[in-house]
Amino acid sequence: GVKDSGRAGFRFHQPRKDVDLLARMRLDHAMRQALLDRRFRLHYQPQLDLASGQVIGAEALIRWRDPLRGEVLPGEFIPVAEESGFIVAIGDWVLHEAVAQAQRWWQQGRRMPVAVNVSALQFQQGQFVDTVRQVLKSAGLPPDLLELELTESILLRDADEALRRLQALAELGVCLSIDDFGTGYSSLAYLKRFPIQRLKIDRSFVQGLPADASDAGIVRAVAQMGRALGLQVIAEGVENEAQRDFLREAGCHEYQGYLFSPALDLAAFETRVWGAERPAIRLVQGGVG
Ligand code: C2E
Ligand code: MG
Ligand code: MG
Ligand code: MG
Repeated sequence: GVKDSGRAGFRFHQPRKDVDLLARMRLDHAMRQALLDRRFRLHYQPQLDLASGQVIGAEALIRWRDPLRGEVLPGEFIPVAEESGFIVAIGDWVLHEAVAQAQRWWQQGRRMPVAVNVSALQFQQGQFVDTVRQVLKSAGLPPDLLELELTESILLRDADEALRRLQALAELGVCLSIDDFGTGYSSLAYLKRFPIQRLKIDRSFVQGLPADASDAGIVRAVAQMGRALGLQVIAEGVENEAQRDFLREAGCHEYQGYLFSPALDLAAFETRVWGAERPAIRLVQGGVG
């Protein structure tokens, strides 16, 4: 039993680890099947300009409804996919899907930049920059309508190689941002050196606004630093007006969060952003010319 000491305790814990491993292997298998069965979907969360209240972009967030498991959250399966390497295939699918959607909007006369989350393993693939170039080219999407959200860990792994890749991506004309900013270890020197356009302040620093003094201080400091470095600053996880008003006063540029809208499926997103307004049909095929 549990009361047994020493070796018995060790044996008690060992099988539990195996159960975890088995559960992760099953989840990984189910993910691979889900990609084949086209069970992944993208939802889109509006991003708004703090000064004008206009929707200025959307973050694509993956969703998975499994017939047996129901809705599986990204926080549950993305870490497993990162561990197994399957995140590369998922990331590829997300990139194609998000670019195709941004292109459809563009062709409808709707300028809606789409931000895609890129995981470290995906970014480290030798062909990542070529993949992005190819996907943009075959869709005929103006590159500035694609934003890549990178995490601070990406910048730290191999800083010289990361810098080369970021420069190649910046030359393509895509927008680069740092997601969950403040939760990692990026140094100010990196921020100055890397061709980043945007910082996304992590939700954990927004939660306590405006009352929490350290959250307030961190947010003010990031907004000021962003301005000094010529970066756009967006806050995520904005759930109430007091938070939004603080962010605006602190000098942040943009926000996203449940206050305006959670991530929505395509139809709901379009209704939330454009209402009943009909799209204008762009006559030029491919939409670039
Ligand atoms: P993230 O990129 O930081 O995305 C923001 C998360 O916060 C999303 O959770 C979003 O639904 C949620 N959120 C937005 N506004 C609010 C709010 O006002 N309050 C609260 N409590 N939450 C809010 P989600 O969709 O569950 O995604 C979680 C994480 O999973 C993402 O964090 C991202 O790291 C990862 N993820 C999601 N989709 C993808 C993807 O396509 N590829 C990769 N590599 N990772 C993804
Ligand atoms: Mg993100
Ligand atoms: Mg984020
Ligand atoms: Mg976050």
